[in-house]
Amino acid sequence: MRGAYLPGGRQVEIRHIADPTPGHGQVVVAMRASTICGSDLRAIYREHLGTGAEAYCGVVAGHEPCGEVVAVGPGCLRFGVGDRVAIYHIAGCGLCRDCRAGYMISCTSPERAAYGWQRDGGHADYLLAQESTLVRLPDSLSWLDGACVACGFGTAYEAIRRVGVSGRDAVLVVGLGPVGLAAGQLAKALGATMVLGADPVASRRELALSLGSVDVAVAADESAPAAVMEATGGNGCEVSVDCSGSGAGRALALAGTRRWGRCVLVGEGGRLEIDVSPTLIHRQLTVHGSWVTSLGHMEELVELLVRWDLHPDRTVTHRFPLEETAAAYATADSGVGGKVAVVMGLDLVEAGVDGG
Ligand SMILES: [Zn+2]
Ligand SMILES: [Zn+2]
Repeated sequence: MRGAYLPGGRQVEIRHIADPTPGHGQVVVAMRASTICGSDLRAIYREHLGTGAEAYCGVVAGHEPCGEVVAVGPGCLRFGVGDRVAIYHIAGCGLCRDCRAGYMISCTSPERAAYGWQRDGGHADYLLAQESTLVRLPDSLSWLDGACVACGFGTAYEAIRRVGVSGRDAVLVVGLGPVGLAAGQLAKALGATMVLGADPVASRRELALSLGSVDVAVAADESAPAAVMEATGGNGCEVSVDCSGSGAGRALALAGTRRWGRCVLVGEGGRLEIDVSPTLIHRQLTVHGSWVTSLGHMEELVELLVRWDLHPDRTVTHRFPLEETAAAYATADSGVGGKVAVVMGLDLVEAGVDGG
């Protein structure tokens, strides 16, 4: 089979490797869609920055896999050949406190391995997966919907859920890349009265407006805090979500949060330097960090997406076949804003491949 590797320096290599065989508790999934995450760009594609949980171990890349089970090893209890699945992208030890809560992302066991980081991932014809990491994909969700859920939409849902977004809240989303687009759509589905989006790039603001991810989009510059206040009657937003991963973006998220409000940090990397008393203490803010999601919340999300008739694949703006994974990464790295997907097999026509 073919698999795409990321050796660093913005290179992508397609290699021919042996087809996987499932061992105990494992399945082989024929890949249908494997989307690109900002973390792939930040920590692997440009240069190998990661250590620990983010160390790239020279495996097949891609940690947002979705496909169809085509072989089942001994000891599998729930999934069988023909099942459509999205894959929670980390296999943990299954025994620690975090794993038992479904947060295999936070497992610290040496057994922990993330697809596309420490074990082979989704940019391939087939993926060898632990049955414990499979999430059943409802019939009404597409392969691309499932891939988007496997990290991006799952991560956005966890953040929105962590701060308890409801119909009492206006929500400020800073950073309108794929996770920001997801956060806005999910906040609205949970009843947010208004979603404001902020991004320095005009084309990303326009995409967010056209997808209905945000109701109002403001330029993320020095005028942004005043624009947020103006849009909220001088109060700020009850909830803010930073998906930018930049110090300036985080500062804007905090400045745009109403007194007694909640802020959740999702965008990875970089630093945050603030004057604690005027920024946090005197304004009675609660700040959360939120990393990916749990298996249980990912299952909950796919169920809710059906109920809401919300399709994450609407945020996919570019699709490439596996042999053009290099073009897919170059496109994602250009910061187009929408999600970039690699699609495989029978799905090529259905997914409307852009090609080159
Ligand atoms: Zn990711
Ligand atoms: Zn564990």
